[in-house]
Amino acid sequence: MQKETIAVHGGYNKKEGYGSMSVPIAQTTAYAFRDAEHAANLFALKELGPIYTRLNNPTTDVLEQRLAQLEGGAGALCVSSGQSAIFYAIINVAEAGDNIIISDKLYGGAVTLLTHTIKRLGITAKIFKSEDASDLEDLIDEKTKAIFFESLSNPQIAIADVESIVDIAKRNGILTICDNTVATAALFNPISWGVDVVVHSTSKYINGQGTTIGGVIIERDGLADFFKANAERYYHFTEPDASYHGLVYTDIPLPNFTLRARLALLRDIGAVQSPHNSWLLLQTVETLALRVEKHSDNTLEIAKFLESHPKIKSVNYPGLESNKYYAKAQKYFKDGKASGLISFEAESFEDAKAVIDSAKLFSVVVNIGDSKSLIVHPASTTHSQMNEEELAGAGINSTTVRLSIGLENPIDLIEDLEQALN
Ligand SMILES: *Cc1c(COP(=O)(O)O)cnc(C)c1O
Repeated sequence: MQKETIAVHGGYNKKEGYGSMSVPIAQTTAYAFRDAEHAANLFALKELGPIYTRLNNPTTDVLEQRLAQLEGGAGALCVSSGQSAIFYAIINVAEAGDNIIISDKLYGGAVTLLTHTIKRLGITAKIFKSEDASDLEDLIDEKTKAIFFESLSNPQIAIADVESIVDIAKRNGILTICDNTVATAALFNPISWGVDVVVHSTSKYINGQGTTIGGVIIERDGLADFFKANAERYYHFTEPDASYHGLVYTDIPLPNFTLRARLALLRDIGAVQSPHNSWLLLQTVETLALRVEKHSDNTLEIAKFLESHPKIKSVNYPGLESNKYYAKAQKYFKDGKASGLISFEAESFEDAKAVIDSAKLFSVVVNIGDSKSLIVHPASTTHSQMNEEELAGAGINSTTVRLSIGLENPIDLIEDLEQALN
């Protein structure tokens, strides 16, 4: 099925229940079991069904199936934020003493989570260049559990060399996790390029209206075989789980990665998506492909305007032929479209600040993917917790201004930027 069709129908059978055209919100904490045996069967996974909303929920279930289908995945788990999706995806495979290899170009929250917070749990992160993966293979050792990168990175707007990363990972039997938040399933499907696990902050383009925080973990088909083939590294999946009465995940014919994240991590740590937020995301995901196309087209127009403006030192947008990621955008992204994220370098820090303060249609907001256009200064906001060295490594300068282009008419946006730059 095509993405536009999946986005409006995927995962929902309207013949069940009342025939409600809109997916009903199961706004409930728990579910009544038919009898004691039914309850026991659900806990033993002999039968599948909702138990308690921290573990599963019928509304969230529809969203999970829909998002899995949109990414060409076998299963999905929704959680309460993009940050918790990343955290769960990592600790689903790594524990104290292990390491992960992460891209040098990541979302600020991912950087602090993966280099500082999980260090307190004994998991260390090594950094590789996701642009060409030239240093990746040398970083892998017997304790490496995952390679984590963003397909189209926020805020650097860099495109990863997905093909090389996947080649190296496969050769070494290491799990790849790709954050596809910015590119979105409408433009790019990491799984079709061999990536094992995809995460999204659904707060961004999947929501698209700045109303909801959420996250999702999606896995490719066949991960049980991957875990069995690399059982020494991924023994959590092939050996009995003492916390779940000796369950061996690879023995269960369900998508293994999200099964374990649900049964062990969501159960114990509990960053669950609220049913109401799942319902909101079910509304907004319907128009994902339409919106992302329009965001991308608007942004290309603005990129061209900024590129020709005398007060702008440089423009970073992979949709521009002059951009160093242009060839990669053409190779990986649908019709070479490159999302609504764009940044530029002002002539000075003062100039950067002045543009942000003078723009009227653009809101000064640390979000992306909203229908409303947004403007931000990453060095003093989203990336302010990073030190000079980390900032330089992440390609962020004090003159960098990031825009998230919305769905307004680009004529108005250009007019606004024009006056703000004067
Ligand atoms: C926003 C964002 C996140 C974090 O998501 P939240 O839903 O805000 O927790 C992770 N990765 C990327 C690329 C993001 O843009």
